[in-house]
Amino acid sequence: MSDKKAAPVDDLMDRIVSLCKRRGFIFQSSEIYGGLASCYDYGPLGVELLRNVKEAWWRSMVTSRRDIVGLDSAIIQSPKVWEASGHLDNFTDPLVDCRECKSRFRADKLGEYVCPNKKFKKRPVTECQADGFFTEPRASNLMFKTHMGPVEGAGAEAYLRPETAQGIFINFLNVVTASRLRPPFGIAQIGKSFRNEITPGNFVFRTREFEQMEMEYFIPPGEDEKWYEYWVQNRFQWYKGLGVNPERLRLRPHDKEELAHYSTGCTDVEYEFPFGWDELEGIAKRGSFDLTQHSEHSNAKLTFYDEEAKAHYTPHVVEPAAGVTRSAMTFLIDAYEEEQIGVDKKGKPDIRTVLHFHPTIAPITVAVFPLVKKEGMPDVADRIEARLREDGFKTFYDEKGAIGRRYRRQDEVGTPWCVTVDGDTLADGTVTIRDRDSMEQSRIHENELSDHLREKLQAWTYRAHG
Ligand code: ATP
Repeated sequence: MSDKKAAPVDDLMDRIVSLCKRRGFIFQSSEIYGGLASCYDYGPLGVELLRNVKEAWWRSMVTSRRDIVGLDSAIIQSPKVWEASGHLDNFTDPLVDCRECKSRFRADKLGEYVCPNKKFKKRPVTECQADGFFTEPRASNLMFKTHMGPVEGAGAEAYLRPETAQGIFINFLNVVTASRLRPPFGIAQIGKSFRNEITPGNFVFRTREFEQMEMEYFIPPGEDEKWYEYWVQNRFQWYKGLGVNPERLRLRPHDKEELAHYSTGCTDVEYEFPFGWDELEGIAKRGSFDLTQHSEHSNAKLTFYDEEAKAHYTPHVVEPAAGVTRSAMTFLIDAYEEEQIGVDKKGKPDIRTVLHFHPTIAPITVAVFPLVKKEGMPDVADRIEARLREDGFKTFYDEKGAIGRRYRRQDEVGTPWCVTVDGDTLADGTVTIRDRDSMEQSRIHENELSDHLREKLQAWTYRAHG
């Protein structure tokens, strides 16, 4: 029994998956060995996309602010951490097996799946449930178990972290002592997490190994509502600021039944994926639950002294928890367009595939081409590209093929600007700069290129609001 689940994936998803492979964003992992279900590798452009997403988050959450510091904790932690946090007992999803086709499904998400059994021609699995094919739901723990040291057995068991957040709570004392921060303040972390998901799928939307960006904001009790509202709005704006279509974004407050017992509120930032609305990020009020639990289990004193009240208190926490890989996929989907830009010589629609990435997210910022591979143009283009690279831009050099084809190849990977060296460059030092979205071209002196691009980037750049 494995990942036989098939969520409805329409044509758009297939095209994006194909573009990701063709252009080096995302590959099926272990492909030369037949692939490993739901595991992915990020290629040359994918890794740049991930780095840009993480950098934009880090800038917005950490380096642009005074009240938040960063952390990078270990993936394998003491098993006691997971006992205290409740993950050992409660980090489960309800699982059902289909007696007919042996597939497994998450019982709380049955509405999302179609039956993988050919016999039933992609019918919704709720019909299989109605036919009585499913076992009773049972809890399945999502943590990956492993062993520390050469000997297996009791005492050697350890877990791969299923979230980055607990690494923050267990370092609370260290960070507070080292940085002398007082509430309200935050600790942020980006890193890999692992969950043995029952039904991974929808490309990199849900995988068993993924990256998260989480921040725990520690506040005096009683300020929960204020900071919760603040972070819900702040995080929603982050996606909008990076160019995500606001019509495909929404906030969804959780119903009471969805909340963990210690939580008094949680709101998801959701995106309208080709397979429906789903979570991008959750912003949760966690009260004092985590610090209290770790305090009780470890005997460490995780409190602050309130000078006015002359008493110790355990800070409360508001947590925005986002996914790196899920965000990267969202930026890809949201940026994707097949745009008709005229008709070709045979009268057929001329369609270009373009990724309208925000320049902060785009893997390549500027591509440089010689118009033709002669008359000294390659040398000049080579020099211009090297200079832009030294000035800190992510560049790409290409001299092969017709110029129109080269533009299209850059459109397809979302490069916002292309610079072309032509005959006039040799005469007067001006180059053509082409805009990806409008496809308009203008001329500018090569010495002004870096400033010009910086200005354009600046005009786009999202600024975190404090
Ligand atoms: P779900 O209900 O979809 O299982 P969750 O509510 O358990 O997710 P959180 O624990 O809040 O998710 O994790 C925070 C973020 O981490 C999610 O919003 C998502 O962006 C990302 N994330 C969680 N699980 C996965 C996964 N299996 N694959 C990729 N990203 C994930």
